[in-house]
Amino acid sequence: MRIFDISRKLVNGMPVWPGDTAFQYEVSWPMEESGSVNVGRLELSTHTGTHVDAPFHFDNDGKRIYELDLNLYIGAARVMDLPPDIESIGIKELKDIDLDGVTRVLFRTLAWKNGTVFPEKIPHIEPDLAPYLAKKGIRLIGLDVPSVDPIDSKELPAHHSLNENGIHILESLILDEITPGEYELIALPLPLVEGDGSPVRAILRQW
Ligand SMILES: [Zn+2]
Repeated sequence: MRIFDISRKLVNGMPVWPGDTAFQYEVSWPMEESGSVNVGRLELSTHTGTHVDAPFHFDNDGKRIYELDLNLYIGAARVMDLPPDIESIGIKELKDIDLDGVTRVLFRTLAWKNGTVFPEKIPHIEPDLAPYLAKKGIRLIGLDVPSVDPIDSKELPAHHSLNENGIHILESLILDEITPGEYELIALPLPLVEGDGSPVRAILRQW
């Protein structure tokens, strides 16, 4: 069995959403002080690197991370290639693709070309795609960009439309090295009781 790591590295100086908390790791209680161990301290946004969104992220009455069904984040997933430099992802991109039996779909856009800086423009999900995907039985979508809406969107129509259709969101994957096809996805959020999102270690397995 092969394992493919599709997570962004968490490292000081990594790009974060403009205005959001910078990622910081430090050894706050070093061996010289504690006498026996190094203990680190983290400061980070819940949307750092590869992460999942809870509905509470964009809806005050939405579910928190701890309330989400873990079955969403473990199981069969399809990695799908999209045309290069695509502006948005809508029904027309998927209408000729057989999605029967697919519960989780990961879109490989390759639009985030330089992972050391935050992207200025990304392909977004067209809001009318959500009911289409829901009808096919999709419960989770993942992307290799940091949002399902345009970076400057305030209304977040795709986030809301996906949520209304029972589809959960996994963002900022790295899919460059992944051949499109069928895999097992594991991308579990932390048990943050009040969390609006959570970093995940996302992997794909293939037999
Ligand atoms: Zn997010």
